[in-house]
Amino acid sequence: MTQRYHIWTEGCQMNVADSLKLAAGLDRFGWQAVDAPETADLVVLNTCVVRDRSEQRAVSHLGRLAAMKRKGRADFQIVVMGCMVGPKDDELRRRFPYVDHFARPQAFEGIFEALGLSDDTGGEFWPTAFAKPTGPTAYVPIIHGCDKFCTYCIVPYRRGREQSRPLDEIVQEVAHLVHGGVREVTLLGQTVEAYGLDFPDKRPDLGDLMEAMHDLPNLERIRFLTSYPKDMTPKIVEAVRDLPKVTEFFNIPVQHGSDAVLGRMRRGYDIALFHDRVDLIRSLMPEASITTDIIVGFCGETEAEFNETLRLMEEVRFDKVHVAAYSPRPGTIAARKLEDDVPPEVKKARLHAVEELEERISTQLNARLAGTDQDVLVEGKRDGRWFGRTRSNKLVHFAGETQVGEVVTVRIEKATAWSLQGTTVADALPLLL
Ligand code: SAM
Ligand code: SF4
Repeated sequence: MTQRYHIWTEGCQMNVADSLKLAAGLDRFGWQAVDAPETADLVVLNTCVVRDRSEQRAVSHLGRLAAMKRKGRADFQIVVMGCMVGPKDDELRRRFPYVDHFARPQAFEGIFEALGLSDDTGGEFWPTAFAKPTGPTAYVPIIHGCDKFCTYCIVPYRRGREQSRPLDEIVQEVAHLVHGGVREVTLLGQTVEAYGLDFPDKRPDLGDLMEAMHDLPNLERIRFLTSYPKDMTPKIVEAVRDLPKVTEFFNIPVQHGSDAVLGRMRRGYDIALFHDRVDLIRSLMPEASITTDIIVGFCGETEAEFNETLRLMEEVRFDKVHVAAYSPRPGTIAARKLEDDVPPEVKKARLHAVEELEERISTQLNARLAGTDQDVLVEGKRDGRWFGRTRSNKLVHFAGETQVGEVVTVRIEKATAWSLQGTTVADALPLLL
């Protein structure tokens, strides 16, 4: 009988990519994906614990699965993977005795072994070698782990030390994805410019990697995330300028606008360095889109320090800001050594202040695109309208004749803080005649 699996994914793009790899591996053994855990023989939770709220979502899912087992459906297996699982899983085994297997991020072999399925080719490439890409865009992890140990962050403890994947393996994977219809790849790393720094002579680096895949036929766009300000060298920025398929889109988390807070976070740079990076990007690519991540309410954050974050936002004018209230993570340096002393209501107010300012700035920046023509990679259709993204990663909803995977030129008619609206130029022109 065909075995059925259900994968629930929480968290970052890296987890999305890992879930697709696992699904591809299971498909290869003839298993079938199902939408609901109730009908599955295997339920996989791919977890995130970057903030308490995401961890609690995984815990409550596990509670529902335990209830399913108690109510008579004892015949399915549960696998927990992702950042909930550290190097030692004894505590997790005690807490969730009904879970059949715990797997650290990317520990696919252990999952297949636990299921009695064997991996005959090895390496990270094999699951995707048989994947059916799910659309015209795909995420490709190129470096695992993180060595930075920012004081608030659990990631290095769960994903381990930085480890770059071999260049040939990545290019082969991208070629396979492109062969299956993918037009845009996003190369992933917690600090993506660290790619290659763990190789002898620190080569190949991110620039070499992008160059190596650049001329694959039918590959339209190359993106990369997440940038770490200190590792973003002029060489990388110049590679983005010089390689036409690499889009002028940068996600560079600054995390805070105050040097004192950056010091407590042990981010390893100051605001002057961050401004230097932004200035370099804008001097080489004036139209580049720059997004960031910000944490509010970190340990000891004063009103004056918080205002420095707002000031930085006004100065840089980010295209988008991902903002989060500080959430202490047990085991991190901040949780052990610093006091989580900003009251919840103050964190909430500061979060809203960042969101409001972001909305105002994004509205102004996007309004400048009204009346322009933008190349859009078509990702799908919803409620009768196509949607896709510009090279600078702006979401566009539009009317016209096209199909998924095509790049069409769209005349932008309207803009909000969150998206652009328009019509394909081919369909808009007759109306103008
Ligand atoms: N490596 C990236 C960097 O250098 O910023 C980000 C990776 S982290 C997994 C994703 C985002 O989660 C971070 O940018 C940060 O804003 C947020 N984050 C991480 N730890 C957090 C915490 N303890 N509380 C609130 N937000 C947190
Ligand atoms: Fe976490 Fe800092 Fe590493 Fe980003 S750079 S994953 S925030 S430790």
